[in-house]
Amino acid sequence: MENRVEKLRKERGLNQEDFAKAIRVSRQTVSSIENGKYNPSLELAFTIADFLGKTIEEIFIYKRADEYDKKTCPTNYLILVNPFHKIPEDYFSGLELVEVRGYDGEVFRVEKKAARQFCKLQKAAAEIGIEILLSSAYRSVEKQRAIKEEFTKEYGEDYAERFVAEPGYSEHHTGLALDFVAEIGGKWLIENREIIERAGELQPIYDILPKYGFILRYLKGKEEITGYPAEPWHIRYVGDPEIAVQITAKGITLEEYKDYEHR
Ligand SMILES: [Zn+2]
Repeated sequence: MENRVEKLRKERGLNQEDFAKAIRVSRQTVSSIENGKYNPSLELAFTIADFLGKTIEEIFIYKRADEYDKKTCPTNYLILVNPFHKIPEDYFSGLELVEVRGYDGEVFRVEKKAARQFCKLQKAAAEIGIEILLSSAYRSVEKQRAIKEEFTKEYGEDYAERFVAEPGYSEHHTGLALDFVAEIGGKWLIENREIIERAGELQPIYDILPKYGFILRYLKGKEEITGYPAEPWHIRYVGDPEIAVQITAKGITLEEYKDYEHR
């Protein structure tokens, strides 16, 4: 267990001997506590805290800093990232990504829990005769910036402005947004256009999404709200299957669900 006893003792200009006397233990005990070799009893910890004018938590650090960060910033599965809501900086400190193999053997990074649920969804989809594979998942803000620059160079500013999300405003930054391609009747639907044309045949997939905590994110007729045209390949993990069921049953967007929740 790490602690700040030595630092705080020195700040008060005390040597180990004097400090030991003040808290009524041997100098050896103080030395062992400071080295982290000995964990004081609760009673002694209180005595030390009292003497140093601090709380126990301020002196004794039970968790490593990175574990602490993850605990204080758990993944917000309902986070809203769209053209009007930028991803908050602190989101990334709690984000745990794992690798998932997608279409053509390409490896994508996906938020840990979302990845687990996607694999279950894949299995369930295969059982009803539709193979699905990832075609896009997590994208860093830096990567988005590079894509935007590439498109601007290639197709001009107007085009890039219309079709490529601003860095920081893509839902793919969350690790919870996934694009998939599907195989129906022996043919892989890869291009966006193909998926749009045959979206009706993907209905069995949309029907089982909520069971695994996913929603279809960009719906037809909701373009004004989401800021995106319908994308029948883009799904979003929302953490709780019950919430996914509610959103899907109501035929609403994540934006509308969050509005409703705050009312
Ligand atoms: Zn997408």
